[in-house]
Amino acid sequence: MAGEIMRSVCPYDCPDSCGLLVEVMNGKAVKVSGDPDHPFTRGSLCPKMNHYERTVHSSLRLTTPLRRTGPKGSGEFQLLSWEDAIRRVADRWKDIIGNFGPEAILPYSYAGTMGLVQRNSGHPFFYHLGASRLDRTICAPAKEAGWKAVMGNTLAPQPDELAFSDLVILWGINAVATNIHQLHSVREAKKKGAQVWLVDTYETPTSGIADRTLVVRPGGDGALALGIMHVLARENLLDLDFLSTSVQGFDDLRNQILPEMYPEKVSALTGLSVASIEFMARSYGRAKAPFIRVGAGLSRYGNGGMNIRSIVCLPALVGAWRKKGGGAFVGTSTAGAFAMNEITREDFMAGERRIVNMNQLGHALNHLKNPPIMSLYVYHSNPASITPDQNQVLKGMEREDLFTVVHERFMTDTAKYADIVLPSTSSLEHSDIYRAYGNYCIQQVKAVIPPVGQSRSNWEVFSLLARAMGFPEPFFRQSAEDLIRHVLSIPSPMRKGIDEAAFTTGKAVELPLPNGYKTQYKTPSGKLEILNPKEAHPLPCYLPPHGGKEPYRLMTAPSLYALNSSFREREDLRQQDKAMFLQMNPGDARQKGFKDGERVVAFNDLGGVSFILQVTPKVPAGVVVAAGVWWLDHCPGRRSVNALTSQRLTDMGRGSTLYDNTVDVRKEL
Ligand code: SF4
Repeated sequence: MAGEIMRSVCPYDCPDSCGLLVEVMNGKAVKVSGDPDHPFTRGSLCPKMNHYERTVHSSLRLTTPLRRTGPKGSGEFQLLSWEDAIRRVADRWKDIIGNFGPEAILPYSYAGTMGLVQRNSGHPFFYHLGASRLDRTICAPAKEAGWKAVMGNTLAPQPDELAFSDLVILWGINAVATNIHQLHSVREAKKKGAQVWLVDTYETPTSGIADRTLVVRPGGDGALALGIMHVLARENLLDLDFLSTSVQGFDDLRNQILPEMYPEKVSALTGLSVASIEFMARSYGRAKAPFIRVGAGLSRYGNGGMNIRSIVCLPALVGAWRKKGGGAFVGTSTAGAFAMNEITREDFMAGERRIVNMNQLGHALNHLKNPPIMSLYVYHSNPASITPDQNQVLKGMEREDLFTVVHERFMTDTAKYADIVLPSTSSLEHSDIYRAYGNYCIQQVKAVIPPVGQSRSNWEVFSLLARAMGFPEPFFRQSAEDLIRHVLSIPSPMRKGIDEAAFTTGKAVELPLPNGYKTQYKTPSGKLEILNPKEAHPLPCYLPPHGGKEPYRLMTAPSLYALNSSFREREDLRQQDKAMFLQMNPGDARQKGFKDGERVVAFNDLGGVSFILQVTPKVPAGVVVAAGVWWLDHCPGRRSVNALTSQRLTDMGRGSTLYDNTVDVRKEL
């Protein structure tokens, strides 16, 4: 007997936001497949989500509130009623506020669910409480800042326009792992004869689809873009008409910066040969409609914002923006599609509050004063695994005087350090609205199954906490569905012209883009701003990455079978990854006397992490690659890759520098 088919969305932090068809029988999801009617993802899912029902109905799901009984990190808990759990949290917070003030409480969340209501449910609550604010910058704010420095608020191109390009550059994006549906249009372009290049720091699985892979030294992407611009200018491969009418500051760039970025120098900075740099520039300059799909990884360096900014200048030099299939894409900004302020309610803030950068949680927990952090509330995030400088984070979480509450679906590394654990719904068990950041689709979905066990959504838990803390506003007493209805009742110019009937029934619909948007530049000057006087560096220029003193650059790469630390509860997916490998070039392994498959320790000043060595020519000399974020229980040692990543921030956007670390490697004794 077949079940009922219901629509939903993949809730994870991925640019695609796939549409899902969920088969439901007797209140259970029995099968999850891709929705063929989704305009961008077109019916396929990545390996992680093909059996999402195994995550939703996993025997490891947390189904009741818990109270810690053993030492922090031990995972020893006893059952608790919801009533008791909420009362304990509220009582402890009232006590902390009385003794230290509300800024002693720190929320910690990121993008465990991308649904706009559930993801942001904590904002109004913590604003009202007066808690410390979290600067949510772990992913790629430098990417956004680099784009904005040149493009302002200009709309990003429709990503499937790439199908009309004759030269596609996948720059720093392992699309096979992180943006698989962009490959639909890459394949279409290829079929029509386009050349596809991959520019990355090692041969990722995405090199399988590329005609040419150009391996650049970590942090050298901005230098490469400037080197290409040098050759474009030197060889008159410029669209002078476009530059004079639509671009601000090219002459300044040509006179002040580009003379210093000659191919020999760029070769030394990037590791690419002079011939490769000149070949790239000539091919790019002669292409009819070159398109660059820029990834996030190259923004996670000390020079990450400048890397992106320099790359985003390239289409301006050749006038690619006015050609169908030409341009650059770093992500869509669809914030204007919904009235976000009705969800986040910044107006609940009584005054200025301290801001804590989420990448520096280790510092905050161990060193912040006046007041110290006395309580941490974590929801849809796993900072013990995903936050840089894991040793400092765990040291902070071990503090006996820190009251930690974790709202989660599984007993993650972070949940093990909680005083109170609250069971969370999965995305199939609550309603929400979604907007993608890798395409222009939006979708609204309802819960398709009842909550598993006693689990509750973020919205419900914050409503309970608001009541227990005595917040009088009716806002906190409405349901998530009430709030969704309210948000959708507010018109937005971006949603004008969508297929309302389809949207109302839960189908993904695309936000329409205005005619000629690719040449309507929403910058202060109305032009593309190669020269941006508001920036610390008014012109794009070469900035070095942070680097370090150890001999190997550490790449913290995405896994095909996990998304950051999500999906690690699934043994079937962990088995696909086989083991926590450190990939190393054969020459480097030989020099060190290492053998493939043996246990090694990568180390730097922050800590040491055990890996299984995988020797492969896909990784260049001087680079080592660690794919995926593993839970501590699954690590060969008791630390995962973030014990090697630092709390330093990017040049723009205060982002993480997860790719900008060095290590040495030794045999494990
Ligand atoms: S993780 Fe990304 S590719 Fe995979 S199903 Fe979700 S949105 Fe689609």
